[in-house]
Amino acid sequence: MTKFTCPSCQQESIPLKDKYAMGYWMTRRCSKCDSLIANHAVLLGVLSFAYLWNLLFFIGLAQFNESGHYFGYMLVIWVILDIINVKYVPLMVIRGQ
Ligand SMILES: [Zn+2]
Repeated sequence: MTKFTCPSCQQESIPLKDKYAMGYWMTRRCSKCDSLIANHAVLLGVLSFAYLWNLLFFIGLAQFNESGHYFGYMLVIWVILDIINVKYVPLMVIRGQ
């Protein structure tokens, strides 16, 4: 299973599900060094606007055109944003040991 490198102890100790949760503003502790870590806040902030835009834009389109297939586009972009979130947003240390 894919593991992500802890920014504090540089060991591959972060499982994929923890990295995914951190993409939604949660914090996790490293299983090796017990540091409190999170996704990079500035980049996550920018990405959060993309999530919000995605939500509002396609709900708006679906509402305006009275067509449900825009929710399909929304879902596809949501998954793409999640992939960007997990793969490219770096981790940062909130509180080291
Ligand atoms: Zn660590």
